[in-house]
Amino acid sequence: MLNAYPPEENWDDHRALDAKAWPRRVERRFRLVPTTCFNCEANCGLLAYVDKDTGKIAKFEGNPVHPASRGRNCAKGPATLNQVEDPERILHPMKRVGDRGEGLWERITWDQALDEIGERIGRAFREDRRHEVMYHVGRMGDDSYMERVLHAWGIDGHNSHTNICSSGARVGFATWMGFDRPSPDFANARVIFLISSHLEAGHYFNPHAQRILEGKENGATIVCIDPRLSNTASQADHWFSAWPGTEAFLLLAIARLLIENDTWDRAFVERWVNWQTFLAETRPDLDPVFDNVGPALLDHYAEYTPAEAARVCGIDEDRIREVARVVGEGLGGFAGHTWRAASAGNEGGWQVSRCLWFVTVLTGSVGTEGGTNANGWNKFIPVTPIHPEPQGEWNDLTWPAEYPLTHHELSVLLPHFLKSGRGKLDTYFTRVYNPLWTNPDGFTWLEVLADPEKVGCHVALTPTWNESAWYADYVLPMGVASERHDVGSFETHNGMWIGFRQPVLRRHGELEGESFDRTHEANPGEVWEEQEFWIDLSWRIDPDGSLGIRRQFESRENPGTPLTLDEYYTMLFEGSVPGLPEAAEAEGLTPLEYMRRKGAFALPGDQYRVYERDVADADLVGTEKDAQGVYRRPGTAGSYDSLDEIKGHMPFIGDGSPAVDIAGEAKFGFPTPSKKLELFSETMRDWGWPEYATPTFIRSHVHWEDLDFAAGERILVPTFRIPTLIHTRSANSEWLNEISHRHPLWVHPSDAEELGIEENGLVRITTRIGHFVIAAWRTEGIRPGVVAASHHMGRWRLDEDKARSWGAGKASVERESDGRWRLRREHGNQPYDSDEPDTGRIWWSDTGVHQNLTFPVQPDPVSGMHCWLQRVTVGPAQLGDAYGDVVVDTEASHAVFEEWLAKTRPGPGPDGLRRPLWFARPVKPKATAYQAD
Ligand code: SF4
Repeated sequence: MLNAYPPEENWDDHRALDAKAWPRRVERRFRLVPTTCFNCEANCGLLAYVDKDTGKIAKFEGNPVHPASRGRNCAKGPATLNQVEDPERILHPMKRVGDRGEGLWERITWDQALDEIGERIGRAFREDRRHEVMYHVGRMGDDSYMERVLHAWGIDGHNSHTNICSSGARVGFATWMGFDRPSPDFANARVIFLISSHLEAGHYFNPHAQRILEGKENGATIVCIDPRLSNTASQADHWFSAWPGTEAFLLLAIARLLIENDTWDRAFVERWVNWQTFLAETRPDLDPVFDNVGPALLDHYAEYTPAEAARVCGIDEDRIREVARVVGEGLGGFAGHTWRAASAGNEGGWQVSRCLWFVTVLTGSVGTEGGTNANGWNKFIPVTPIHPEPQGEWNDLTWPAEYPLTHHELSVLLPHFLKSGRGKLDTYFTRVYNPLWTNPDGFTWLEVLADPEKVGCHVALTPTWNESAWYADYVLPMGVASERHDVGSFETHNGMWIGFRQPVLRRHGELEGESFDRTHEANPGEVWEEQEFWIDLSWRIDPDGSLGIRRQFESRENPGTPLTLDEYYTMLFEGSVPGLPEAAEAEGLTPLEYMRRKGAFALPGDQYRVYERDVADADLVGTEKDAQGVYRRPGTAGSYDSLDEIKGHMPFIGDGSPAVDIAGEAKFGFPTPSKKLELFSETMRDWGWPEYATPTFIRSHVHWEDLDFAAGERILVPTFRIPTLIHTRSANSEWLNEISHRHPLWVHPSDAEELGIEENGLVRITTRIGHFVIAAWRTEGIRPGVVAASHHMGRWRLDEDKARSWGAGKASVERESDGRWRLRREHGNQPYDSDEPDTGRIWWSDTGVHQNLTFPVQPDPVSGMHCWLQRVTVGPAQLGDAYGDVVVDTEASHAVFEEWLAKTRPGPGPDGLRRPLWFARPVKPKATAYQAD
């Protein structure tokens, strides 16, 4: 918590001296309006300082009453001001007038945009082409609103960025416990175990970072596995620079040592792990008694000795033993996390999180104080007050039969599926998402986005120009953090909370006596917010209500008029957030006014060991206990006779069973089929991957023993984050670019010598489908044999005077005579004249290299996660190469797509299902949609 901040009672009239007026004492008056940051998913609290004299936002600082960020932010929070004031931001709806990609636009009204897009979608729905409408999101702002919209539209049209982000880690966690993410209690941990540079730049950066440092101050031991000497590694007590892709091997060696040393929590494992199934499936020769579990595990993992782990991972054997000893001494206090990094880099990366959770389980640290909870028990998603029926559709473009176990949509394969004739899109929304730039194989995206036969209409909902929006038909400006409503929550610590993002100038205006019909009336230009956009668009899709859509967006207070967000959030905060109405009443406020004043709310109670909670007899009425002790409700996914029976009983996650019998008591348990932690996953066995039913090491597609180092092959890590940049949107933030604007290739001096690479020398990196040219940075902070470049940089624009930013260079894109695409950087950043004087003071020029263009799609055959790490050939630049050059053969990339597709084991699975019913899924359809045709 911050020690000094403006007291809450003064937020409506805060007075401070104007620093810029110094040495004169000039007092200024501010209204402090809370909102939440939108520059990563952590949802930290912000306070917007609205200058009462100018009516403009002067700055953003932390919100001290926000339970997760506690008044602190990373650099990206205050930099929200840059996004508000960005001279290149899109302020009005735009429609394409030339060919796609030609860069010719006309300004249109919101009414025109809504009419034209709404009419188009309505026609698709009436012609039963619902699967041709797709919403593809990068940074989601609200936890549940879009599910409501898509359910109301009755389409399976959700697409996400998750399979370039976290699908891998999610499958590993979900197959253990149902929940797909860990929630470490870092502040109280005894051992903090991080795979990748989590502390500096990873998941939930600021809320986690502050608690990791608290844990460190309290004496926790930090272990970091990362091929780079990241800021996290530099803070660690033990840094393992293991070969990329061998992390699961190391974790299994630690797990085995815990058992061998008898430093594991036998009582917890006996009580909460499905060890009976493990013994029955792997050692039917043994008596099914718990005393046989330890010896059976030692046999099962016999090859994972410290010596072999040291060889495979390329690290020191004694250090492995030492870390296993430290972990064994900290039983109950093991706080571990992996998210992107190894889980997102390697074929089989999903087993990294499965093996990490194995250590969490063996140490008895699940949901304990100082241990690691399930995200679902620390993240709170309020039920939307108006929730339509789930859709009865299944979209094979996003959930193809080849990947029945993928955690999220096969987003990266969309252009290849369209090219293969599997379908087409009538209307395609991209929302804070830049697939051409962010995804691998961007030139294939360019080919598809430029082809109206494949994508009939592309609507880019974006606050700023980007490479994909350049190929859109409509570009509709959506608000940044201080210009929109969203409710969000994340698993940042032990406890549950929600944050409320709100349009700051609208709130300020209303408190000053103004009234607004729609948020774009208060925002800069005509920048709008999605929530109201979807309401009004839904009315245009279904103007007479005959599709049944309009009524989902109709006011309950004033039927016949569109729902307002005040009405929506009044219903939500009054009825869906336990404890909020009482907390508001105690302060004499309505729940909505409470959230508008404070910006966040911490739900009462702690969330430790939720699985141990007793289940009341009343909740067991109508259930039957099965042979595994699970209380099943007839007609739920766990015991259905027909899919029709479970219609209406589909939970988002798990099978709806309320409890499990533990030593004669009905306990809450986990949302898995056994209601326990699943050391042996019958789901993996039943869905075609029996060899992966237990935590396992899978040899990566970039495994070091397969590389020809003498021929210049190396492993490229193209995924690490820089804590001061936001994926694609930071190009529109002045301060962030001034801080971070270099894009070097990390290369170890020994590799540089061997490969003939000079300091700062140009390097050509060749992948399977092309090459790029980057400059080298010799550093001992990277493992020899591995090179690395951050994933943030390399933004470009095609027009000299349009779509400029603080971080995008001017480039040309051409197709060569042999069919290969070539991107050539014409120049980097340059000063230019605008209404913002600082654009004339740009002094940095490096805009980096767009390396993702040269990566083929490599979706893991189980999780669907794009495997980001690349097996590349590294060498000095060749004659004619220039910094930033990118050359790609998209025919070769399509061949790689087909090669990886062939690795899958397609569904349907048991009972003719497309996917296990108990698996979580965004915008989950009705159970009947799971039945394969
Ligand atoms: S960690 Fe930084 S970018 Fe993320 S929400 Fe918090 S302040 Fe914003």
